[in-house]
Amino acid sequence: MAYDPDNIFAKILRGEIPCNKVHEDEHVLAFHDINPLAPVHVLVIPKGAYESMNDFTAKASDAEIAAMFRAVGALARDLGIAAEGYRFLSNCGGHGHQEVPHFHVHLFGGRPLGRMLSRSAG
Ligand code: AMP
Repeated sequence: MAYDPDNIFAKILRGEIPCNKVHEDEHVLAFHDINPLAPVHVLVIPKGAYESMNDFTAKASDAEIAAMFRAVGALARDLGIAAEGYRFLSNCGGHGHQEVPHFHVHLFGGRPLGRMLSRSAG
């Protein structure tokens, strides 16, 4: 599927809509999720036009991939959630329930987060 340049994160990257920014570097932007699911809920996105984890890992440069991973770790430390623990995840495609078609990593922390998935959901 072709990258949709009208997705909400593309608009944030172009400065067309605001975000509550927590980090920016050459390859990465991070901002607070508008509908947080934990006391800390930050989204980390590449500046490049990648639809999902599939697309990003197939097409991004090593520098872009390293920048994403380093940003997640650095943000966990900077946001004060590294010591007590946190979770990062990326929803990918239909089964992953990805809603915004620009690759992003969720970073959650600030409270016990429970199990990764509900066992009852199979
Ligand atoms: P996903 O299901 O992984 O695609 O998650 C998309 C996330 O983007 C959700 O947690 C939304 O709350 C978040 N989101 C949507 N629009 C915005 C926005 N304008 N600013 C910040 N977060 C947003």
